[in-house]
Amino acid sequence: MTRPLLATIDPQAMRHNLQRVRQAVGDARIWAVVKANAYGHGLAAAYEGLRGADGFAVLLVQEAQQLRQLGWRGPIVLLEGVFEARELEACSRLGLSHVVHCDAQIDWLAAHKSQLGQHVLLKMNSGMNRLGFAPERYRSAYARLSALPQVEAVDCITHFSQADSPMGASAQLAIFNTATADLAAERSLSNSAASLLQPQGEQPPLHSDWVRPGIVLYGASPDYPQHSAQDWGLEPAMSLHSRLIAVQHLAVGAAVGYGNTFIAPEPMRLGVVACGYGDGYPRHCATGTPILVDGVRTQVIGRVSMDMLCVDLRPVPQADFGSEVLLWGRSPRYGSLLSVDEVAAAAGTIGYELLCALAPRVPVQTMGATA
Ligand SMILES: *Cc1c(COP(=O)(O)O)cnc(C)c1O
Repeated sequence: MTRPLLATIDPQAMRHNLQRVRQAVGDARIWAVVKANAYGHGLAAAYEGLRGADGFAVLLVQEAQQLRQLGWRGPIVLLEGVFEARELEACSRLGLSHVVHCDAQIDWLAAHKSQLGQHVLLKMNSGMNRLGFAPERYRSAYARLSALPQVEAVDCITHFSQADSPMGASAQLAIFNTATADLAAERSLSNSAASLLQPQGEQPPLHSDWVRPGIVLYGASPDYPQHSAQDWGLEPAMSLHSRLIAVQHLAVGAAVGYGNTFIAPEPMRLGVVACGYGDGYPRHCATGTPILVDGVRTQVIGRVSMDMLCVDLRPVPQADFGSEVLLWGRSPRYGSLLSVDEVAAAAGTIGYELLCALAPRVPVQTMGATA
C-alpha cells in the first residue's frame, strides 16, 4: 500500500456552490475566482466544476493560458492586470480582460501595438489601500483610458476590505458610487462575503453587474465563525483524508510527540496519522484541534510533525490500524463533515490558507474523473 494520504476534489460540490451563489446574486454575472491553483484544488478540476460561470478571474497569464487550453472561450480577467508591458501581447493573443490599477499600466497600454481593442477594468482604491486609483484621481484615469485607441471598453472595479461585516462594505460602496455615478460602465464589486451577505435595513444593496466569488465556490465560509459553510448551504470541494498507520497504548503520564506537550491523563490509546505539516496541515494545530477517525470526532494531541500527527482514540474505541482519518472536508466512507474553517480556526488562520497550502507531495484525485 502506498502512503494513504489523499486529497479528493469534488467538481459536483463546486457546481452546487456556484448555484448557491447564483441564487444569492440574482442576475449579476459571476467571475469564478480560480487564482492560486483554484485555491489549491487544481485548475483543471475547478474548470470541470465551474464551467457554468460567466467568466474566470485569475492572477497569472499562465493560468489564463491553461484555461484556454482546457477549452474555455469565454471571458477571463487578470485580477491585478499585467505586471509588465510584454504581458499585453498575451492579453491580445488570449483575449484577456485585465485590471488597470496604476499609471504605469496605462502608459504600457498607450504604447501597446495591437489590432484588437483591450477590455480593461479600472480599479478604484475605495479604502483598502492596496491597489487602485484614489477616488479623486479615478475619473481622470477613466478619461485617459477611454481615449486610448488600444482600449475598447472600460469597466469599474473595487474591492472591499470588510466584506464579511454587514456594515463594512457600505462606506467603501458610497465612495465608489459617488465617483462612478454617471459613468456608462459595467461594475464589479463583490467577493464571496459581499456576494452572500446582502446588507440589511437602510443600507443600499451591493448590486453590481459582475460579482467575484472565490472561497465559497470551494465550499468554505467567507465569514466563519459568524456563519459556517453549512449555514451558507455550501459543500466542501476538497476532502483531505488518510489512515492510522500505528496505534499506541499509553500509560498514565506518558508523553506524546516533540516537546512532550501532551501527557496522558489516564491509560489511553493513541492513533498515528499519515499527515503532517510537510503535507500542508498546519503545525499550529495544537492539542484539541478537531479531526475525525472512522467518522467520529476526536482531537489532535501533541505537536504536529512533518510527516505524522497523533490523535486521541478515547472517543473511538473501535478504531484500529488502517482506520480512516478525515483532516477536513467530507469523509469518503462515512459521509461525516469537518469544515476546513474549523481546523483553520484552531491554527489561528482561515480556511483559505489551508486549502491553498496543500503541499505538492499530496496526491490529488478528482471525483468522477477517469484515471
Ligand atoms: C481573490 C479575490 C476575490 C475572491 O475573494 P473571496 O474572498 O475568495 O471570495 C475577489 N476579488 C479580488 C480582487 C480578489 O483578489
